[in-house]
Amino acid sequence: MIRIVMLLILLLGCKQGKETTTPVSTVKEELPAGESKILEQKESLGTANGELQQQVVKSLEGLADTTFVRLADFSRDFAYDMRYATENNFLKAKVYDCAECYTRVRTAKALLAANKEFLQKGVKIKFFDCYRPNSVQYKMWKIVPNPQYVANPVKGSIHNKGGAVDITLVDLDGKELDMGTDFDFFGKRAYHDNLELPKNILANRKLLKETMEKHGFWSIRTEWWHYNLSAGSNAKIADFKWKCDKD
Ligand SMILES: [Zn+2]
Repeated sequence: MIRIVMLLILLLGCKQGKETTTPVSTVKEELPAGESKILEQKESLGTANGELQQQVVKSLEGLADTTFVRLADFSRDFAYDMRYATENNFLKAKVYDCAECYTRVRTAKALLAANKEFLQKGVKIKFFDCYRPNSVQYKMWKIVPNPQYVANPVKGSIHNKGGAVDITLVDLDGKELDMGTDFDFFGKRAYHDNLELPKNILANRKLLKETMEKHGFWSIRTEWWHYNLSAGSNAKIADFKWKCDKD
């Protein structure tokens, strides 16, 4: 009887939080603790600052393109430094409760394909930012209400649609390739069309840009780290929020 009541509470809880795009991980985490443990055994590889905790690898097969997924659940081959979950960003503010990298399935598939190609060249993608809930966009806008640096939350950013990522490349030891500036450096040195840079920097940017473009992403002129999935621009602005583990 208690089980039935609990199930009802869970079902009602699910309904209240339900959006058109159901985050897979949230549904899974709302299962009773025991069952959740059987479904998935977490591997604790440690969580520090902007780094994510890695979990068992799952498959994207059968998931709708618009579903939000946590990339670390589908590959162990990405690196993370989620800057907005720390104060180490241009806002000097921590706007995420915890470091997570979510995108829509469509974006995740393209990222996995691009990373496979990068790995063959001895490098891999490192994320600075991924899907950004629209409410976080409002938070950022409140701190820096300037469209030159932050997209107006009313119109939204492709980050709010789960179709944009901020990335760099690292080698297999996790060392960043030199891209000429840090993430979120706003100035000419970060521009794609600034060719007055050392050859190795231009070569690193070229590798990143050409590979991402091959997998359906396009870049913006002023930020070497930002990539939009072409097919992701038409998705809806979302405000799905990921859960932060309290343990
Ligand atoms: Zn971006």
